[in-house]
Amino acid sequence: MHLPSKSEMEMLDMFEGLTIRDAVIKSILNDERWYGDGSPQWTISAKKPWQRPSQMAAQAREQHDKTERLLDRHGSNDPYASHLIKSIERCHPNRHCGSGACPECQRALQRWFVENVHDAAAALLKDKRKLILVSIVPDYAATDATRPNLNWENVIAKLCEDMASVGIPWAIGGSDFSVNIDKVNGGDPVLQGQFWMLIEKPKGNWSDDLKALINSSGKIKKPLFKRKYASSHAQLAYAIKNEFNKRETYIKRTKLRNPHMNTRKKSFVAIFG
Ligand SMILES: [Zn+2]
Repeated sequence: MHLPSKSEMEMLDMFEGLTIRDAVIKSILNDERWYGDGSPQWTISAKKPWQRPSQMAAQAREQHDKTERLLDRHGSNDPYASHLIKSIERCHPNRHCGSGACPECQRALQRWFVENVHDAAAALLKDKRKLILVSIVPDYAATDATRPNLNWENVIAKLCEDMASVGIPWAIGGSDFSVNIDKVNGGDPVLQGQFWMLIEKPKGNWSDDLKALINSSGKIKKPLFKRKYASSHAQLAYAIKNEFNKRETYIKRTKLRNPHMNTRKKSFVAIFG
């Protein structure tokens, strides 16, 4: 995996005031290769009727312009949205904005992640190490969507602690949010954070222990979901998303079945700062 070298890290001094993590991302995004159309490329939802190739540079540019217009139309009076508009409108080749709200920078980071994690994982698999993908939905990564009040750094610190305590030696991946609306039981919409990560599988009954730690309230239906890692670029790409869902729980009525709970997903645009 290519992480910034010592000289590159010295260059990072120019990003004064940024955290090391921000500075590493800036350094990655200085490489124009990730904004182009070369490898890596992959197929999204392979073998499904809706399968499609991963996004091309021109599509990301279009999405960038669309995001800018959308923010301008709906958020020009909102200080967070105005800040985002200013960030992403100055995104140009060799002078990228590095904002998580910018579809071009998000795609570049995703391409870097997919290629480098894929190669690092291949070397570990050759060494007979056991890797799996996990989706993790901790109950402590949730907050009221109408008045979000969540310290994301604390959530990550707690999750790292929980994963380490069940023996997971390392994890690499990303997080995203959905807005969950329960039309059956009512209540305020909940902004729920979730993680998609590649991990090295520990020994023993780690998954039940982890579930107990990340879902002590018992509120989350599927706090942990495990999937075989098939060395696929698409599986890794899923960690760094640019689409966020609104999940509505409702009662579905059909002629074939008694009324039952169902969840529908719709995309939404997040403009939180
Ligand atoms: Zn950008």
